[in-house]
Amino acid sequence: MNANLNGVGMTSPRTRERMIERLRQQGIRNEAVLTAMNEVPRHIFVAEALAHRAYEDTPLPIGCKQTISSPYIVARMIEMLLEGRASLGRTLEIGTGCGYQAAILGRLTREIYSVERIARLLEKARSALAILPELRHIRLRHADGSLGLSTVAPFDSIIVAAAATEVPPSLCAQLAPDGILVLPVGGNEQYLYRIRRTAQGFMEESLDAVRFVPLLAGLEK
Ligand code: SAH
Repeated sequence: MNANLNGVGMTSPRTRERMIERLRQQGIRNEAVLTAMNEVPRHIFVAEALAHRAYEDTPLPIGCKQTISSPYIVARMIEMLLEGRASLGRTLEIGTGCGYQAAILGRLTREIYSVERIARLLEKARSALAILPELRHIRLRHADGSLGLSTVAPFDSIIVAAAATEVPPSLCAQLAPDGILVLPVGGNEQYLYRIRRTAQGFMEESLDAVRFVPLLAGLEK
């Protein structure tokens, strides 16, 4: 982990601003999302040897055969999740990974839970997030997120960072009225889905083609 918070050269605030400019060019419009991404130093969430690539628009390895999504995908999914709402409300992230996306979410809501099935990654995420005192409210749990988090449900927002083969019914069931779930669904071919709980039932949209690691059951050390 790279504890150089302010960053220099390829990890400098200027490099981060260029990432934001690129996200705008790629079509990200939500100012709250762009501000959050400008405020969170992405380089502290990746290994020191990869820190100089942290602001490139690319997924990066984070250990344990997992990857941090590209900045564009993080921005796009959170934009889909916010969808005109002022806040994300009570939020559940499934797949903490290195903790970067949790940090962005934590900038957009005061009530957030993030679950990860690999304990080693969760501990790394915990140390990275500890560098940012404004994100102390993020609650991390070592748990199998495919079951949601029934003890604290319902959620206004649920976001999944790993691909499910189908939309998990337990996650839909844990959506609050008007709640929104964003997740990648599929195997070789995956699409981002947005599911909204309305008074008329669940409304489902399938959007961009994507590539995610699979959502797996059970826990790992
Ligand atoms: N949001 C992360 C992306 C990590 S990649 C980031 O910003 O780094 C997806 C993560 O989902 C991996 O760490 C993987 O271990 C985790 N994952 C996969 N299946 C899971 C499950 N059932 N419950 C919780 N986490 C899961």
